[in-house]
Amino acid sequence: MTEENKKSREENQAKHKVPSGIWIKCKSCREPLFAAELERNLMVCPKCDYHFPLGADKRIDLLTDEGSFQEYDADLAAVDVLSFTDKKPYLQRLAEAKKRTGVKDAVVSGLATLEGIPISVAAMDFGFIGGSMGSVVGEKVARTFKRGVAHRRPVVIAPTSGGARMQEGVVSLMQLGKTNAAAAELADAGLPYVVVISDPTTAGVMASYASVGDVIISEPNALMGFAGPRVIMETIRQELPRGFQRAEFQLEHGFVDIIAHRRDVRSIVVELLKVLTPEVILASLQDGEP
Ligand SMILES: [Zn+2]
Repeated sequence: MTEENKKSREENQAKHKVPSGIWIKCKSCREPLFAAELERNLMVCPKCDYHFPLGADKRIDLLTDEGSFQEYDADLAAVDVLSFTDKKPYLQRLAEAKKRTGVKDAVVSGLATLEGIPISVAAMDFGFIGGSMGSVVGEKVARTFKRGVAHRRPVVIAPTSGGARMQEGVVSLMQLGKTNAAAAELADAGLPYVVVISDPTTAGVMASYASVGDVIISEPNALMGFAGPRVIMETIRQELPRGFQRAEFQLEHGFVDIIAHRRDVRSIVVELLKVLTPEVILASLQDGEP
């Protein structure tokens, strides 16, 4: 990341920090929450445990050692290959999302350590056009796997997404194959891949790299699936079971391996990596890496 880029990211993060002293209403239990307390609680409602969405930077903080994250590909930015306009031109949509989130696309990626274990890591930002996957997200995710292979590191990815980015048409659909092929390269190299799902993770992202982790962890009550419940209900004309596509339903049906409260996700990932990658930990101790 260039110095200029870093500065603007930091300024933007400061601007988007929840101001202390204000109150936020919980979307689930409707209780008023003190913003500073909510932030201290990792954006989880202390009254009802509702997990508020987390920006990519905060998610990276949660999954890495302080000061260890080295961002890659921060300057990759989408182009408007189709000159696409829906309610507004795609380029305008991109510019607004950049301004709002401080990132250039819906994923932040790089190398870091987690409790000293070297990892290749990426986290998505739902605030950037619904965390949709276009050419940039696909490329950055694919490179996250490739960096894992090149540096012999396990990969940890935290997806949250509404799916493929329709403004990039078929180019966005091609990212499904690309990211999955890169995930397969990691598997062929004998390195593990841990997914940390948060609400919501759907469609093209769920149909590709979010569903192929060796271990799939989910935050409580996260919605995940390909098509949403409403679309399925309208198609099959049947009532859906209670809690359909939520994390607890998916755990019961074998798709999710672990449901973890946000405060526990980090230690669970660490324990998994210790079991799954003893050789990576040994090598890093010998080389004095990260
Ligand atoms: Zn609440």
